[in-house]
Amino acid sequence: MRLSLLFSSLLLLICTWHLQAQIHAPDLRADGRPFDFYNREPYRSDLPRPSDFFGYDTGDFLTTFALYESLLREYQNHSDRLRVFTIGKTPEHRAQYLLAISSPGNLDHLDEIKEQLGSLTDPRKLKAGPGLDQLIQKLPIVVWLSYSIHGSESAAFEAGIQVLYQLLASNDPALCEALEHTVVLINPCQNPDGHERFATWYNAHGSGRPEEYAYEHHEPWSITGRLNHNFFDLNRDLISLSQPESKAATKAFLEWHPQVLADHHGQTKEYFFPPPAVPINPNLPEKTTIKWLEIFGKSNASAFDRYAWPYFVRQMFDLFYPGYWDSWSSLHGATGMTYETDGGGPLGYRWRRPDGTLLTLRDGIAKHVTASLATVTAAAANREARLRDYRDFFESTFKELKRKFYLVPGKDPQSTAALVSLLMMQGIEVSRTNGDVQLLKASDYFGNAPGEKTIPAGSFVVDTAQPYGRMATALLETETPEDSDFLKRQETLRKANEAKGTAEAKQDYEFYDVTAWSLPLAMGVEAYFTDEPIRTEVSGVSAASQNLVSGLAKNNGSKDPEASHIEPGVAYAFEPSSMEAMRMAIQLLRQGYRLDTSNDPFRAGNKDMPRGTFILWAERNPSNLPETLTNLSNKNGVPVQSIHSSFPDSNRRGIGSETDFFLKAPKVAILAGDPVEQTSYGLLRFLLEQKCGLEVIPVSLENLTRDVLDKINVLILPDGQASQYKKTLEENQIGDLRDWVANGGVLICIGGASEFAADPDTKLTPSRIVGSDEKSDAPSEKQPVEARQKSDHASSEKKESANHKPIEIPGSIVKAKVNRDHFLTIGYDSETLPLFVQGDVFFKPSETGGNALTFAGERLRLSGFFWEGNTEQLLRDSSALIDEPLESGNVILFSFQPGFRMIWTSTIRLLLNAIVYGPSQPQKSDD
Ligand SMILES: [Zn+2]
Repeated sequence: MRLSLLFSSLLLLICTWHLQAQIHAPDLRADGRPFDFYNREPYRSDLPRPSDFFGYDTGDFLTTFALYESLLREYQNHSDRLRVFTIGKTPEHRAQYLLAISSPGNLDHLDEIKEQLGSLTDPRKLKAGPGLDQLIQKLPIVVWLSYSIHGSESAAFEAGIQVLYQLLASNDPALCEALEHTVVLINPCQNPDGHERFATWYNAHGSGRPEEYAYEHHEPWSITGRLNHNFFDLNRDLISLSQPESKAATKAFLEWHPQVLADHHGQTKEYFFPPPAVPINPNLPEKTTIKWLEIFGKSNASAFDRYAWPYFVRQMFDLFYPGYWDSWSSLHGATGMTYETDGGGPLGYRWRRPDGTLLTLRDGIAKHVTASLATVTAAAANREARLRDYRDFFESTFKELKRKFYLVPGKDPQSTAALVSLLMMQGIEVSRTNGDVQLLKASDYFGNAPGEKTIPAGSFVVDTAQPYGRMATALLETETPEDSDFLKRQETLRKANEAKGTAEAKQDYEFYDVTAWSLPLAMGVEAYFTDEPIRTEVSGVSAASQNLVSGLAKNNGSKDPEASHIEPGVAYAFEPSSMEAMRMAIQLLRQGYRLDTSNDPFRAGNKDMPRGTFILWAERNPSNLPETLTNLSNKNGVPVQSIHSSFPDSNRRGIGSETDFFLKAPKVAILAGDPVEQTSYGLLRFLLEQKCGLEVIPVSLENLTRDVLDKINVLILPDGQASQYKKTLEENQIGDLRDWVANGGVLICIGGASEFAADPDTKLTPSRIVGSDEKSDAPSEKQPVEARQKSDHASSEKKESANHKPIEIPGSIVKAKVNRDHFLTIGYDSETLPLFVQGDVFFKPSETGGNALTFAGERLRLSGFFWEGNTEQLLRDSSALIDEPLESGNVILFSFQPGFRMIWTSTIRLLLNAIVYGPSQPQKSDD
């Protein structure tokens, strides 16, 4: 769930803590009516109950992953209903398991079952007819149950243990009958590293105190078990599949073809199960999707009603963003569902509700176990009908989807290769065109009218008439439209909010997550789409021909990269035109090689070189330089030019110019701990360290002394609440930062940290945010007449203030103009760059510094939600990326998160430019 919601409910509970009765000794059994987990008798005696094996009852202690594994081994050795598959390894070297549970008869034929279920997904291979009907009549249904993707949602993990035991040990005839027709797949812990961090911490400090202020309800920043080792939210990662946990689990999912998936969480005040809130992703077949969500929802409902448990449906959790497990699995043909339980997690063993009643971890577990088992029963009962609709999902895809997406390698073939690779990991078929394709009506991603276009041979094409065509569309379309009633309701909420007094509480909007993610825009890939047939021969790009993709990356400039040996020259140069080139520069700097660059284009080796080109002089580097460059060039797929003379062949500037400058090796620190937002920190470290090979030192505020600052030349302040930055950083620390920048430091601020740096009180930059200084702003000239005339309920003064301040947007794609004279945009050749914009903080263009990216021109919005009469108007002419020089240093303000969720890979190089070129900019006095 959204953390803000959690915190507001915590806040509500703070206000009511005084109502709580005093409890002197934690007696977990004394709370309410205990739920009997062992009520599916008879049980097999050869499998130990979890409580007997662990030595504590369910919900009395958090089971560590290591202990869980020992129970699993015990079951594996003694159960004939279980197969254990190790599907991957986490960053902290824990195993990722997938457990298959079914009748012994089914377990003997798992490979056959997998293969036959796979054939249902492809009408090209298995046509409608008696063969198909027979298959549907006999095949078991596959139900995927996953637990604890957010490692701190402890009830989910414990519930997974109980569900496993029940399925393996209960000889209840109904359950045994269900397993004859069902294969249950359990992903017992989707985030073992996060779980173990949380469980170890909570076990050490949890004493069952129900008071909100007890330490056990306040997980420290460094624990944040919700996130995986890399501090990524795995339930947002299924678009980019950037984390090993996501890669392994989705790969297994694509092999098993489940028809039902329930993903067990635990952060709501009451239990949630589907049907979900609107909007649902319109690429899903609406009627059937909702029909099955209702069937499974009602099955849970009747199980819950038996215990008189409250629950809610059709609110908060939608099925729109394709990067959650429920929507991702739905777009792959399953009935994908999120289950949220109430107990456990940050609420610990026990929690006092506002009405004085107690909520226990055991309660939260009991509800999840009940929902899991009701799901298995409902799946078994509806096996044939669900399998038939599963098949229809794919048949309708082939019938209804006509769209083709073309991906053109163009100038940055590595980004295109990365997108093709990602699509294939999603199970999507990609082909490569053998000849040029003439399109009559091709649409681009920038809202231009469709027109003729020649797609060059060697481009990639995704024909959506394929099994996972719906997922392909969801990822590649420019925009995913939202339900119109839903949008109208948000406008109504806005009007109601604008009519409220300034101190009055506003209603939350119902957007659950971002509203745009189009991959060609996010990854910087030239792409077109059309419904015309493909008028050329194509060859499939299969997983086996992955080399084709990496080959493409390497063929950027040289035909046979393995054989290409870089000849000795007076100097060597390579262009900063890709992530790989930047990574190579970082590798060279780390190894102590001396690199020069220039902020201007130049001529060398009979070739025009763009600004930012990296130059290595033979004379100033070790003699093994040609060998090192040969190795790195082949490894990274980056062509290196050998230059034999500094004398340019034309009337242009050559190398060796006085304006070239030496690049200092970046020494980078990143702020860790409060007030930093954990996922921004995790993302920045992941992309810099693991994707770009940069060494980054995390430093907490208390250790960020003057001495430490003197040892680094780049400091990154990740996203975080500006008010928290202001509250947490002491005045003298801000002064130290200012001095350090003035002496040549590069302070890189992201999102909320930029807002903090634009606060006049910090005196860090002259930059200001839009709406920060309303009185001096020109009257609402930017507002359309319509907006100015409306003043129904609100006073005109209030309306004016509302129109001057951006209203928070959930996350959209906006066209930015690239300032190609600024070092921060080195390597970006086009005039425009699509950016991901979220929130309500926009930056006025800097008058003192450089505006590297601005939102300029008409039609800024490319995809996603904008508030009418507000977002576009206030965003126009604002700045997305500012460089504020401060004496010898720079404060760099990113209004957005570069690399957001590893989906927005096209913006990572902006950050690398700040790090690689920033500390050496010629303005520095100490060169
Ligand atoms: Zn969760």
